[in-house]
Amino acid sequence: MPIDKEKIKQAIRLFLEGIGEDPNREGLLETPDRVARMWEDFEKQKTFNFKLFEEFGNYNEMVLVKDIAIYSFCEHHLLPFFGKAHIAYIPDGIVCGLSKLVRSVRAFALRPQVQERLTNEIADFLASQLKPKGVAVVLEMEHLCMSMRGVMSPGHLTVTSALRGIFLSDLRTREEFLKLIDRPAL
Ligand code: ZN
Repeated sequence: MPIDKEKIKQAIRLFLEGIGEDPNREGLLETPDRVARMWEDFEKQKTFNFKLFEEFGNYNEMVLVKDIAIYSFCEHHLLPFFGKAHIAYIPDGIVCGLSKLVRSVRAFALRPQVQERLTNEIADFLASQLKPKGVAVVLEMEHLCMSMRGVMSPGHLTVTSALRGIFLSDLRTREEFLKLIDRPAL
């Protein structure tokens, strides 16, 4: 579904009225348009060219990018949750540019999400694109809907993982990955 900016603008205006604000006051006047343009920008980041390489010197060990900054929206409250993503895979004849791992994270994060599904979607997407021997995704994220409201637990981290292929079947590979991302266990 394409982005409907007019609908977003109407909704934000109504939302501001709903919480007792005057959407025509100076600070809020441009807000509906800003929010609509922001979501349009998020939408654009969902598609990118996932370039693959078959020539990379027979590298068959783990490729790991850790501490990727990740920002998403909890679909229950539309508040951000954010933190770090660690992504690893073991190639099977194909690698991708490292920036594509970062872009993959962003593509699935910039929409209403739950952390569990986000983790699985990134792992399944990379598995389908790279057809690697294995892929591992770990997300460590703070949810503002928990920090700002409800149980009010700032600074907590929710950790989720999705392991595929050799990361599931081979203990040594899994332990190497966890050591590299400084996690004793999951
Ligand atoms: Zn929430």
